[in-house]
Amino acid sequence: MKIGVLALQGAFREHRLVLEKLGVEVVEVRKKEQLAELAGLVIPGGESTTIGKLMVDFGLLSEIKERFQQGMAVFGTCAGLILLATEIMGSEQPRLGLMEMTVKRNAYGRQVDSFEVDLPVPAIGAQPLRAVFIRAPYIERVGSGVEVMATFQDKIVLARQGKALAAAFHPELTEDYRLHQYFVDLCKK
Ligand code: GLN
Repeated sequence: MKIGVLALQGAFREHRLVLEKLGVEVVEVRKKEQLAELAGLVIPGGESTTIGKLMVDFGLLSEIKERFQQGMAVFGTCAGLILLATEIMGSEQPRLGLMEMTVKRNAYGRQVDSFEVDLPVPAIGAQPLRAVFIRAPYIERVGSGVEVMATFQDKIVLARQGKALAAAFHPELTEDYRLHQYFVDLCKK
C-alpha cells in the first residue's frame, strides 16, 4: 500500500517521515499521474491559498476529487483541513470541498498565537494527544455526515467524513503517531 503526501508547499517532509516510521511506502505527490496508485493522500499544513492555487495550476484539484470518489482516503492537517472544507469563512479560494463543513482560517490569531494542548481524542485511545496549533483554523459547523472526533474550547478541531480526515493542528510535529496510524488504517478500509 502506498500513501502520498502532497508536496507543493508546507510541512510535507514531516508527514513523510512519520508515515515511513509506520512502515508505509510514501510518495511525494507533485503530478496528478502519481495519484493513480495511492490508497491515501495527506494534504499538509502550510498556506492554504498557495497550496490551493498550485493544485489548480497542476491539475491536481479535480484529479484528487475524482480519486477520492473512487475510494482514496485523504488526511488534511491545518491548511489541509481548510482545503477539505466545503465552506471557508470570508474566502472564495480554491478548495477540494470533500467534507461538509465550514471552517474559519487563522481562528486563534496570527503566528504568535501558536500553542500546544493535550487533546482528548477517544477514537485513538484513552491518553490525550499532544496537539500543536500554528495559525490554526477551527471548524465552525459540520454537516450531518461528519463525525466530530475532538474539540478544544468548544470548537471542533478534528473530524472525519467517510474516508476524509481533518485536523486543525499538526500531528506530524510530535512523536505520537496514533493519528497517522488511524489514517493508515482508514486507507486500508
Ligand atoms: N493559516 C494557514 C492558512 O490559512 C494555515 C496554517 C497552517 O497550516 N499551519 O492557510
